[in-house]
Amino acid sequence: HVSTKPPPEPSPLRRAKFFQANMRILVTGGAGFIGSHLVDKLMQNEKNEVIVVDNYFTGSKDNLSQWIGNPRFELIRHDVTEPLFVEVDRIYHLACPASPIFYKYNPVKTIKTNVIGTLNMLGLAKRVGARILLTSTSEVYGDPLVHPQTEDYWGNVNPIGVRSCYDEGKRVAETLMYDYHRLHGIEIRIARIFNTYGPRMNLDDGRVVSNFLAQAIRDEPLTVQLPGTQTRSFCYVSDMVDGLTRLMEGEHTGPINMGNPGEFTMLELAETVKEMINPNVKIMTVENTPDDPRQRKPDITKAKELLGWEPKIKLNSGIPLMEEDFRKRLTISRK
Ligand code: NAD
Ligand code: UDP
Ligand code: UDP
Repeated sequence: HVSTKPPPEPSPLRRAKFFQANMRILVTGGAGFIGSHLVDKLMQNEKNEVIVVDNYFTGSKDNLSQWIGNPRFELIRHDVTEPLFVEVDRIYHLACPASPIFYKYNPVKTIKTNVIGTLNMLGLAKRVGARILLTSTSEVYGDPLVHPQTEDYWGNVNPIGVRSCYDEGKRVAETLMYDYHRLHGIEIRIARIFNTYGPRMNLDDGRVVSNFLAQAIRDEPLTVQLPGTQTRSFCYVSDMVDGLTRLMEGEHTGPINMGNPGEFTMLELAETVKEMINPNVKIMTVENTPDDPRQRKPDITKAKELLGWEPKIKLNSGIPLMEEDFRKRLTISRK
């Protein structure tokens, strides 16, 4: 017996749910390191449309080449310090150089990007009723006097130093997020990201993991900045992107620390890279830059409890995952 009855119409509620699942998502800074990995993850869901805006200061179209031409993807050259008018449901606001050499290059521009850029994205979120996530940073804790850092620690930041454009810029960006939330009821999410590494990091951005890896591949000495006992905690980029999407779609505004609690001195990191990539490479010490934080390690209790998130990839598994991409871009073949 074959039924001739037409299938039931979806109820208005089911239609509404179905409609909600189709998201148009804006990623500012989506041509950068973390942003492009986030776009990869968002594009894997066929119900998502993704719009990237980027001014290509530190990012590159190459990072998004696999999506160019896809009807669900749009790439716009735009500087977030200028107003932007698009219609979206979600805003991942990443636009901002993250590496000290790039954010120090034009510190006033860095402040404008953090302050005016975030203000514009909040104005956009308010106009269209979008939820907005800010990628803040562990740098809001400055040279921390509390270790490991919890979200309720207010930080120890030099307001007039060479890193201040970034640290204080992100602190004001967080303030703006909370003021729009309190004043206009905007749905906000704040992630405080700790050092993140992985494929597509800029080869020349001066960050410690990319420097050591490129140096080891080129057989140049690894440059440990003094004293070498300063610590950082390194999170692999796929773990980070997983945390960011959980935070966006979860119920908690944050700020929430996102990072890998495994803590290493820079000398230990150099030894690890040497052992894994090039056992013959030399390690040398060089001068450091001012205001370098002496220790950094996230307390991720909140992320674990509220988002069910914790990093899966340890440093000695993550470094080999970057190696191929670095070798390819350094055009040096495997030994
Ligand atoms: P990145 O430099 O690779 O990416 C930043 C992107 O923003 C680039 O594509 C750049 O061209 C773009 N951009 C910069 N200024 C812009 C502007 N005015 N208008 C439009 N686009 C602009 O850096 P990343 O490592 O991918 O960092 C992404 C975000 O995560 C940043 O907000 C950064 O502060 C934050 N974060 C990163 C780390 C890390 O370890 N990588 C740590 C803490 C926080
Ligand atoms: N803005 C934007 N896109 C929008 C809406 C606003 O870029 O879709 C910018 C706007 O130009 C302004 C900022 O966001 O500079 C803050 O907007 P808001 O409406 O909150 O404040 P106001 O315009 O009243 O200063
Ligand atoms: N660092 C280093 N050698 C390098 C580059 C950086 O020893 O070639 C050190 C730097 O002094 C700092 C740490 O590595 O203590 C992390 O620096 P990075 O610029 O990667 O990130 P951030 O300071 O923003 O955490």
